[in-house]
Amino acid sequence: MAMDSDLFCEGLVRRFGSNAAVDHISLDVPAGTFFSILGPSGCGKTTLLRLLAGFDKPDEGDIHIRGQRMNDVPPNRRPVNMVFQHLALFPAMSVGDNIGYGLKRRKVPVAERRKRIAGVLEQVGLPGLEYRDPQELSGGQRQRVALARCLVLEPTLLLLDEPLGALDLKLREQMKVELKHLQKQFGTTFVYITHDQSEAMVMSDQVAVMREGRFDQVAPPEELYREPATPFVAGFVGDNNRLAGELVAIRDNLAEIRLDDGSLVQGRVASGDLETGRRAELYIRPESLVLSGDALSTGFSAMQAKVRTTLFDGANSRVEAENGGQPVYARLPQDGSAPKLSAGSAIRLAWDPVLARVFGADNP
Ligand code: ATP
Repeated sequence: MAMDSDLFCEGLVRRFGSNAAVDHISLDVPAGTFFSILGPSGCGKTTLLRLLAGFDKPDEGDIHIRGQRMNDVPPNRRPVNMVFQHLALFPAMSVGDNIGYGLKRRKVPVAERRKRIAGVLEQVGLPGLEYRDPQELSGGQRQRVALARCLVLEPTLLLLDEPLGALDLKLREQMKVELKHLQKQFGTTFVYITHDQSEAMVMSDQVAVMREGRFDQVAPPEELYREPATPFVAGFVGDNNRLAGELVAIRDNLAEIRLDDGSLVQGRVASGDLETGRRAELYIRPESLVLSGDALSTGFSAMQAKVRTTLFDGANSRVEAENGGQPVYARLPQDGSAPKLSAGSAIRLAWDPVLARVFGADNP
């Protein structure tokens, strides 16, 4: 265990009948980290968070917070607070009383309480709102009060269960940035669960991508995006084109594939199960594709494609096409030089092989 870990778990398992909702999860979260657990509905995120909070017990494995084993410590004795999607501020209490509730239960004297409430309100950008009713606040303000209510207790870990899920899109975008900012300002370790990859990518220092009770990959957002460890991560984080073919050769960490339309193309080897003669899949991001004439940059791979539609979205145009019956799309910058592409026209899409990743087709 690293000395500066706020949270360290080893081999956590939680079974419901024969189904392991959490299946041998280990994690190590350094102090001050914004750590997200990202995964589709039903992958076990909430179950894992409940184990960390102490609402539920693991069947196997250990949970340590700041070096102390927590398995048998009840929720109210753990240095942990939790923010839920439905925030449940007490409607009959003022903002200040809501925030001070936990302090009062801990028997913090009134004067000290007032000072800390005023301080935390200032920090979340709502100075002087102690006497407001929660009903008089906007959705975003209420969210900040809910956070303040937890942060004022100075937990080692703040667990957040899809806290932005109930907000409308615009507010959610704004709160993403604010949450990240607040986390850095307070320096509290956040463990944030979400099924929304853009939330996880924007806010986190580290993201664990979870699938069927396990972590596929734990990495900073840039690394998840550039070097997805599994096809699942490649498909879940950002957009990817997926092109199937047969593996012809592997040379210098580059895999050569014959796509189903006959083109011979290359990408980086991304999994250990590649075998020549077997099926493989090449993943390439839409923004890594370029339109090419006949003169290709040396070393680039290219394939023919037939345009289906072109959609303009301001900064880019999104070209939807197909190659040998497989859909493929490119995001091309609108720099004025882009030719008009009409439906049905034949184009050549090219890419730098180091930007593509090749997995065995049987890889989960
Ligand atoms: P969502 O994003 O939809 O909330 P999740 O990733 O949080 O999903 P969990 O709620 O942790 O997923 O559920 C993981 C698996 O464990 C699911 O198959 C679920 O049906 C099962 N599960 C969770 N809680 C229980 C329980 N109390 N009893 C039986 N099965 C459960």
